[in-house]
Amino acid sequence: MRYDVIIIGSGPAGYTAALYTSRSFLKTLLLTGVIPGGQLTTTTEVDNYPGFPKGIQGPELMMDMKAQVEQFGTEIEQNHVSGVTYQDKTKTFVVAAGEKTFEGKTVIIATGASAMYLGLPSEKKLMGKGISACATCDGFFFRGKEVVVVGGGDTAMEEATFLTKFATNVTIIHRRDEFRASAIMLDRAKKDPKIMFLTNKIVEEVVGETAVTGVRLKDTKTGEVSTLNTQGFFLAIGHKPNTDFLKNVIELDLKGYVVTKVQTQTSVPGIFAAGDCVDHRYRQAVVAAGQGCMAAMDAERYLEEQR
Ligand code: FAD
Ligand code: NAP
Repeated sequence: MRYDVIIIGSGPAGYTAALYTSRSFLKTLLLTGVIPGGQLTTTTEVDNYPGFPKGIQGPELMMDMKAQVEQFGTEIEQNHVSGVTYQDKTKTFVVAAGEKTFEGKTVIIATGASAMYLGLPSEKKLMGKGISACATCDGFFFRGKEVVVVGGGDTAMEEATFLTKFATNVTIIHRRDEFRASAIMLDRAKKDPKIMFLTNKIVEEVVGETAVTGVRLKDTKTGEVSTLNTQGFFLAIGHKPNTDFLKNVIELDLKGYVVTKVQTQTSVPGIFAAGDCVDHRYRQAVVAAGQGCMAAMDAERYLEEQR
């Protein structure tokens, strides 16, 4: 059996791509990976996805997206992809997942990205209870509270500045006293009266039993340990696109994001990409969904041209 389209990933990008391809009567297989539904299944309230005036729970939104694509005949397989190869003779992509292989005329990569965490046990314990890696998504829930942002790059400056809309004050905690952030973004954060900086500090522990109440910090120069009270702990130490298995398949940039040539077309004709695995700037569900739609339409056009 050869599919018209094989979609790798089941976040907003993958499901939207599947909605469009299967609704165009293209035989579509979607491989979910180990997080069926993607990143939004790890959050609670989503209130910036259009169409839900009362907001919607992340897992519920993703269940609905799944139900919508199933209605149009997308086959969904819960499997993690380890490789993609191309058979020149048959002009077919072979996608390896677990013990199985699947053949497709086109492939859409929608494998998303994962926020990097510090790896502390307390982070795991308090996940969703005051810990976030997305200020745009969760800032609203910290109205009138004190928060910290960990990191020293542009994302940390941007997230901290954004959080001042909601929080009473924002403390940026950085492990050095030099910043990776661009001068302009750093300057903006420094001039903001609601933002404070703690440099040369590493986070040893997030404190709290059922909700974040503070962070334990260690000074990298003096070794001094201190505790800072806070109700919100935002990570801004980078994201990693889930593209390791594509290293020798398509062009990736230095950080592993998929390089697209024209719209969603990757360096290999017939392979398209959408969502957070391509987009390191916006990282929003609605953007991923929009790109999923684009990738589906690009794949459909490609298939028409091949005929
Ligand atoms: P993802 O949602 O990351 O999905 C990637 C999919 O690829 C997953 O299903 C995964 O299993 C699969 N996959 C990965 N590798 C493989 C592989 N090798 N084989 C097969 N499958 C694979 N955005 C908003 O707009 N509003 C919000 O309120 C919001 N809240 C958020 C809260 C949190 C805690 C987080 C982490 C993110 C939030 N975001 C929010 C961001 C949003 O979730 C992402 O922008 C969006 O999910 C990206 O969609 P995607 O389809 O590109 O990838
Ligand atoms: P980044 O530039 O890689 O910065 C990551 C920051 O996190 C660094 O300061 C790093 O510290 C720190 N960090 C990494 N691991 C850490 C750890 N384990 N513990 C403590 N701190 C840690 O990532 P980014 O800020 O997400 O930016 C990614 C890219 O997007 C950049 O190119 C950036 O310019 C771009 N971006 C642009 C905009 C914009 O223009 N509006 C906004 C956001 C992002 P060190 O410095 O010590 O390594």
